[in-house]
Amino acid sequence: MGHVVFIGAGPGSADLITLRGARRLAQADVVLFDALTDPALRELAPQARWIDVGKRGFADSTGQDTINALMIKQASDAHVVVRLKGGDPSVFGRLEEELEALAAAGIACEVVPGVTAAIAAAAHAQRPLTRRGNGRSVSLTTAMTRTGALRASRSADTEVFYMAGKQLAALSRRLIEAGWPSDTPVCVVSRAGWPDGIASDHTVATLPRASLLHSGRPTVVAVGAGAAPLRTGTRIAVDTCSAGVESLKP
Ligand code: SAH
Repeated sequence: MGHVVFIGAGPGSADLITLRGARRLAQADVVLFDALTDPALRELAPQARWIDVGKRGFADSTGQDTINALMIKQASDAHVVVRLKGGDPSVFGRLEEELEALAAAGIACEVVPGVTAAIAAAAHAQRPLTRRGNGRSVSLTTAMTRTGALRASRSADTEVFYMAGKQLAALSRRLIEAGWPSDTPVCVVSRAGWPDGIASDHTVATLPRASLLHSGRPTVVAVGAGAAPLRTGTRIAVDTCSAGVESLKP
């Protein structure tokens, strides 16, 4: 009997995977990967069979069942199966269903954490998610309900919304309905962790203006204390380029 290793690939460039993730990937026989993971990661496991199980938008239950069945089949064939997920596997990654399916089939697993998009966005924008005094709590929130309806909340000092990039105008309205003052700072970051990541500053009221800039890119929206610019003003970023995966090879 093989086993399954869930690995968080991080939100972008291959060099944001953890060292443990890279080491486990190098031992894989089969890799089942999602859409948002960097193709350059393949260089870390050239020996493995790579299978694209990426789901765009809302996965129907058949899609999820197929992935579960594939994991179970491959692990039963005594393979080391890596389930590679964007960001962190336990954040909006359907990890619950997959762990349950494997447990029911009696297959051992391991979860290797990854850098989730909210954390990469905070790093990109140089906006600490927690702030001394007024930023004591952070919520990772999906703006989408299971039925595809958009919902906003005000449950923490800083709320980071995932999966709302296509509906920023509607999110702005929902945030006001949820009780956020219209001048609350909002920081929108798309493709965080990639060399072409973009961050832009808004308020809850002016959030709709971010739509064009971030259109078609994976985007998170930070609202509240952790989205506020620092007192010293504009960030000064080092001009970095994405490190190759060569240096990561175990
Ligand atoms: N498990 C992932 C989240 C998967 S849900 C994680 O931990 O990050 C997919 C959503 O994540 C996208 O709709 C977007 O809101 C966010 N996302 C993923 N990659 C991102 C990136 N590089 N920059 C900004 N947001 C990203």
